[in-house]
Order: sequence, then structure tokens, then C-alpha cells
Amino acid sequence: MEEPRQQVYVPTVATPGGEKTQLGVFSTEQDAWDVMRAFLAKAGSTDVVHGNITAWEIDFVGEEGSFTLVSFDRNNCPVCDELTFWVEGDDEKARCYYPRCGAWIEQNAYDPTRWDCGWPAANWNKRAEDYKQAYQGLVSMRGSAASAGTSAQMPTREEWLSKQDSER
Ligand SMILES: [Zn+2]
Repeated sequence: MEEPRQQVYVPTVATPGGEKTQLGVFSTEQDAWDVMRAFLAKAGSTDVVHGNITAWEIDFVGEEGSFTLVSFDRNNCPVCDELTFWVEGDDEKARCYYPRCGAWIEQNAYDPTRWDCGWPAANWNKRAEDYKQAYQGLVSMRGSAASAGTSAQMPTREEWLSKQDSER
């Protein structure tokens, strides 16, 4: 019986100038994701604009011992406008890591023709046909929040929820 190849997972982040920082080396993909997400959540104070998770095969001879599992690119959030909106892969998924915002876009897990987007700060969700439409959905969420006069001071999820409770 052949032993399965062992892999390690390396999350790496980079600045616009291409200066790279490795966040660690992990034996499970899950740990690499956890470390990457924890970094992205605090990336607001850094000038990092790109991240990826690379799998490396152990005891591999040659040039093809690694491949990129996922990449992340930093953008302005369509809802809160902070530079905390991280897009995964080729527009596959996106999330704003600004704590009071949390806007997100994701392909539906059960129906691949359907996309979902949401803005947890206002407890709003919307469905869409593709990534682009979901993105536009977030832009329009921002628009309707602005017309309701809530965009200047976005409520935290807790504040929003307690407001809902008091209105009950
Ligand atoms: Zn945001």
C-alpha cells in the first residue's frame, strides 16, 4: 500500500509592493484557513492587499510541489466603504471584515445557479443570479440605508437587535 502524500498548508499575505509575509505552516487546511481569517479580520491596520493559502507536498522532488488553494484580494466595501472587503478567488466569495459591517457575498451551497448576499449589521439578506448582481444588491442595500438615514452611523448587530426587541 502506498502512503498518502503528506501536505502542509501555508497562508501568506502580501503588500502592494509584493513584500510577502508567511503566517505559519500548518498540517491541516482548516488551521491555515482559521489563521488567514483571523489575520484578515485585523488587516485593517496593515497595508496588506493580497493573501493566499498554498499547499506544499512534503518529500516532493521537483518544481511542482506546491499549488495555491485560494487567493484573497482587498477592496473597498460596497456597503461601508472601508478597505476591508476581501474577495476570494475569482469572484467566488466576498466578505467585509469591518466589525460593524460584515457585508458578504456567497454562492448558494445547494443551488449553484443562485447567489446570496447580506448585510448582518442591518439583518438584510438578498438573493441574486450571479456575483455581479449580488454585488449590486449590496450597493443598493447601502442606498436604501442611506435614504433611511442610517448610513452615517451604522448600528452594531447588538444595537440593531435590541432595537428590534424594544419595538416588539
Ligand atoms: Zn463593509
